[in-house]
Amino acid sequence: MELLSAYLKKAIPGVNDAWNKGMVADLALTITPELIFFDKQSLLKGDMTFVWLSWFIESIYDYNLAPDNIVYADVFSLVRRGLLKSGLSEDSEHFVVIWKNVSKVIYTFICRMQGRKRQSVTKTLKEDLVSLAQNDLKCWICGYRFSHDSIQLFLNQPGSIQLPSLVDYLSPRGLVERDLKIEVEHKQPFSSGGGDLDDLDNIDLSCGYCNRHKWKFLSIYDANRSLRSFSHSRLGLVSVPQPYWVIRLLALADRCTEAGCTVTKNKQQLYVDFINDIGSAAPTNLKVVCRKHLRNSGDRFVSAVNFKDRTKKGRRSLL
Ligand SMILES: [Zn+2]
Ligand SMILES: [Zn+2]
Repeated sequence: MELLSAYLKKAIPGVNDAWNKGMVADLALTITPELIFFDKQSLLKGDMTFVWLSWFIESIYDYNLAPDNIVYADVFSLVRRGLLKSGLSEDSEHFVVIWKNVSKVIYTFICRMQGRKRQSVTKTLKEDLVSLAQNDLKCWICGYRFSHDSIQLFLNQPGSIQLPSLVDYLSPRGLVERDLKIEVEHKQPFSSGGGDLDDLDNIDLSCGYCNRHKWKFLSIYDANRSLRSFSHSRLGLVSVPQPYWVIRLLALADRCTEAGCTVTKNKQQLYVDFINDIGSAAPTNLKVVCRKHLRNSGDRFVSAVNFKDRTKKGRRSLL
């Protein structure tokens, strides 16, 4: 708590002084206490690293500009020029290692991206994925169990999706039919160089809701940061998270976080809930739980009618 107190004393004046470069420099030197992250330190720091790393590598050479016939030697040479132009010195004993690593990652990415055409999902692949799941077909992200009809439709057999009359206001799966259908999901998005359908490590089955909100995001910071609210008929105005925050938390979770609970995603669908119910639905204030451990589960599932009209987007975050 001492570190948090010292940190807040230094950081809070920055709330109204974010255009002061001295303040920005001061904040950069401030050690961020663990308590700021609640229990999400690894996620929040790890995902920030993806953003920093991506910007660093892209700054050395913009691989989107690479010609179609580029070979490794060209990339190697461009990366050396990029590193030098970025101010890194060739005199350093570490230069070559950095040069090789950056060249390798950029070249691999270019190879994955160039001339790629999405493979189409065949009936055979669908059947293989269904049998791989051994009759326990679920979304790899949220653990939602697919209905008999959604499996039928996935296998190009007759079936129909029944939309539920109630949806979870923190994660409204089931407002459209797609949400409840089975989709073949690329864990690392195909559009970002992730392996296609022949890479079984990169594909899995997901519900349409998770797939649609995961989209091409990776880091939790990739989604819009503004808060949302929902007009709940019994609770009044309540805070709701950006859909992708829920997806990222659920995808990384394998079990309910309630102490002593043994429910895993392999057994049941998982949900997010507030840690502090009067705080906003920021990623730091959300926890992953099973259905039994939802706080006030009676209030969680609300009428799907006019759901969208009762959601307000774009509430400002503090900073
Ligand atoms: Zn899902
Ligand atoms: Zn539980």
